[in-house]
Amino acid sequence: MAFASHNSKNGLHASRLDRPLSVNSMKSLASSPTALTPTSTRPKSAAPGSSSVQRRNGTGAQKSGKDDSGVSGRVRVAVRLRPRNAEELAADADFADCVELLPELKRLKLRKNNWDCETYQFDEVLTETASQKRVYEVVAKPVVESVLEGYNGTVMAYGQTGTGKTFTLGRLGEEDCADRGIMVRAMEDILADISPEHDTLTVSYLQLYMETVQDLLAPERDNIAIVEDPKTGDVSLPGTTLVELKDQKSFLELLQTGEANRFASNTKLNTESSRSHALLLVNVKRSAKNKQEKDFVIHNENGNSVHVSKGHRVPTIRKSKLLIVDLAGSERVDKSGSEGHQLEEAKAINLSLTSLGKCINALAENSPHVPTRDSKLTRLLRDSFGGTARTSLIITIGPSPRHRGETSSTILFGQRAMKVENMVKLKEEFDYKSLCRRLEAELDKLIADNERQAQAIFDGEEDMERKLEEAGTRVAEAESKVAAALEVISKEKQRQQKELVEMMQNLQIERAHRERLELELRENVQDLQDKKKKQIYAENEKHQKEIRDILEQHQQEIKDVQTRLANECGQRERLEKELHEANICLQQSKEILEPENIHKEELSDLKQMLEKECELRQQAERELDAFKREEKKLTNGITEKNDIGEIWVLKKRLEQELLEREKLEDEIKSLKQQLLQVHVDAEERSRTIGKGSSARSSGGSNSTISLHTPSNMKDTINGQRATIAKLFEQVGLQKILSLLESEDVDVRVHAVKVVANLAAEEVNQEKIVEAGGLGSLLTLLQSSEDETIRRVAAGAIANLAMNETNQELIMAQGGIGLLARTADDAEDPQTLRMVAGAIANLCGNDKLQIKLREEGGIRALLGMVRSRHADVLAQVARGIANFAKCESRGAAQGYRTGRSLLIEDGALPWIVANANNEASSIRRHIELALCHLAQHEVNAKDVVSGGALWELIRISRECSREDIRSLAQRTLNASPTFQAELRRLHVTY
Ligand code: ADP
Ligand code: MG
Repeated sequence: MAFASHNSKNGLHASRLDRPLSVNSMKSLASSPTALTPTSTRPKSAAPGSSSVQRRNGTGAQKSGKDDSGVSGRVRVAVRLRPRNAEELAADADFADCVELLPELKRLKLRKNNWDCETYQFDEVLTETASQKRVYEVVAKPVVESVLEGYNGTVMAYGQTGTGKTFTLGRLGEEDCADRGIMVRAMEDILADISPEHDTLTVSYLQLYMETVQDLLAPERDNIAIVEDPKTGDVSLPGTTLVELKDQKSFLELLQTGEANRFASNTKLNTESSRSHALLLVNVKRSAKNKQEKDFVIHNENGNSVHVSKGHRVPTIRKSKLLIVDLAGSERVDKSGSEGHQLEEAKAINLSLTSLGKCINALAENSPHVPTRDSKLTRLLRDSFGGTARTSLIITIGPSPRHRGETSSTILFGQRAMKVENMVKLKEEFDYKSLCRRLEAELDKLIADNERQAQAIFDGEEDMERKLEEAGTRVAEAESKVAAALEVISKEKQRQQKELVEMMQNLQIERAHRERLELELRENVQDLQDKKKKQIYAENEKHQKEIRDILEQHQQEIKDVQTRLANECGQRERLEKELHEANICLQQSKEILEPENIHKEELSDLKQMLEKECELRQQAERELDAFKREEKKLTNGITEKNDIGEIWVLKKRLEQELLEREKLEDEIKSLKQQLLQVHVDAEERSRTIGKGSSARSSGGSNSTISLHTPSNMKDTINGQRATIAKLFEQVGLQKILSLLESEDVDVRVHAVKVVANLAAEEVNQEKIVEAGGLGSLLTLLQSSEDETIRRVAAGAIANLAMNETNQELIMAQGGIGLLARTADDAEDPQTLRMVAGAIANLCGNDKLQIKLREEGGIRALLGMVRSRHADVLAQVARGIANFAKCESRGAAQGYRTGRSLLIEDGALPWIVANANNEASSIRRHIELALCHLAQHEVNAKDVVSGGALWELIRISRECSREDIRSLAQRTLNASPTFQAELRRLHVTY
């Protein structure tokens, strides 16, 4: 470690930091009431870069990484006057003191004679009464405080022997604590300030005698060398006892020891303490605390700078020295009377003192050369005068005029010393040892961390390399896949381009072909149109001719019909006449003859005649129908023609024909009514006759009926018919309908039968409805308790329900509900058959589907299957088929959606159960209904779940009717649901 080695080798000189005295320190000195104040004879201060500084640097002063200059600190000088001692009091009693002190002015007057005196200014003037405490505080205390802050300090006493130097500096004050001198008081203050844990305090006590340094704490060391650091100029005394002090007591002991050793030594050398210089050296080592952290630069051995960040701030340590010097007496040799050894001694003593005086003179005069090295004393005091220490000098003088010369020289020494300017500097060093320890600990930690990180990086790198390899492999794979894909794409692209080209070519060929075809087509169309026109024209001609032929033929036929009708009319008149006669005869016979006289055979004749009439009527009807058909054909033929004029003529003729036909129909109708009436009356009559016959038989007679001759009977029948026809004509439909409300049940029964018969004929239906017959029939159905009436009325309604207009009327008049209720109540199979028939007819009306269901028609229809009568079931089946057909038609035309209402009303189980009914009238309808239901996908699921699919399959295979069979097949094939189900069941269809 370069840093560490640098520290260990060159730490001290390289790290020395000399800092200027802090401003606060200066302030405290200046403001202190006891501080030395500037004098009027202020010495010339040494400006930064002045000769004193230059000189100091030139003599190898401390080297530092920072600015070398300190703060100017002049040597402070105080003068102390000793009180007269006993001798002086006695000897000089008559003489005034040679000095006069003006302490408030800090001045001293030295009398030359009675009339002449000199005045000197000092930093402090201490009178003979000045206490030891005050002397300490004004002279030494500022220096002691400065030392505690980290500056070197010197307190020195200079003066003639016996003037009180030792008294001022070294008194222990054992007897009187007020006598304690500067050494004791300084140590007290130092010990009070330092911290025993962090700071160290060591003391050496030396004596300089005859240019020899002796350790007063180990007097055997009597030739201690003074060593100067060639770089810093610091002076050290290797081998000197350094006593570490903890308390004041041990210091006092040390001083006593030192004093005892000094006395013993002086005795041995036959000298006095006043002839030697005593030096108390106090070393204060303090750790700097709470320093502001900042970066700084230190220099290594090679002069390279090393930047130290505040993060690694180097701890600092302050090593200051307090030097307290008790000089030997400053009296002249000649005056001391020394001889021989004493002379040498005096020389030696004076060498040091003379040398000190010279140095101070040189410094005071800013002389370029200061002879510091001339004596050991000046070498030891080089930092105290002209150095970096804060120095305070106390000069001691006696009052005696006898020593006025010595006093004067002492005063002049002090005056010169006041001119010496020191540059006080903080004695602060980096504490590299503790920094080194701390850095080593940090380094060890960093090394350990580094090792761990290196391992982690190594592991990470291995992992990374592995992943890189994997990634590389994947990339290569992906690249090869991409290349393959690109190849495929390029091939595909080429193929598609080729195809595109081919397609374009084909397209062009196709286009040319199409254009050719279009041309041909246009030509063909033109040809075709021409041909068609011709053909139509020819066909038109042909049709017109055909129409003319047909019309002629038709006219001929009409003439024939009219002829026949005329015959018919004649015959009718004849019949009417006969009927009339028969009626008269009947009346007569009623009045005259007993009922027993009428024979059954006569009745039979009457019936035969009636049947004949019926046949004639039917023949006329058939002819009429034929005529209708012809007319229809003719009408159809006419609409196809374009000849409007001809059509108009034909229409006119047709209208006439129609009018004539209507007349004929009316006639036929009235004939029919008459015939019916005849039939009714004949039936009535037969019943009456029957009753009479049986009564007569029971009476014992059995031959009276044969009284009637055949000619009479014939006349009677003819007369009866005529009567009935007449009655019928006279009574009319209105009357017959009113009979439906008769009180008499029998009348109601007959009336309803007549109406039913009339309703069976399509031609009568409209009239019946117009005359309110439908309402009457419905009322009858609702109110009558007679089963016959209900049955016949239901039959009549069923017949009326064949017509679409009537169906709507039935519904409008609440007929559906009525029929439903009847269906629920009735037990008679014939009644149920009629009701079922009526509902079945309604089921066939597209418009009534919803209403029919809403009013319970479907439910009632399905309810009637309880009857189990084949006729009823056939009607039910027909109704279902009609309804399903309508639904199917509605769905096909798009106005009906959703599930079949039949299925909703639960018809499916019955349909499935009867789909294969042995009665064909039932089976056929059910089969048809099932096909219609299955045709719609919306019903398919129900068909499957209801089991109807199997029936459908059966119908598709077995149904006897070709149309139903193929319908079933189509239905099965068309439904995805059926197909899926068949696949699921593995049924091959
Ligand atoms: P020096 O050390 O200068 O030779 P000393 O300190 O030994 O002088 O003093 C000589 C004598 O004078 C001593 O007996 C001392 O007690 C006395 N003395 C000196 N200064 C004073 C003083 N300020 N007040 C009283 N006695 C003094
Ligand atoms: Mg002394």
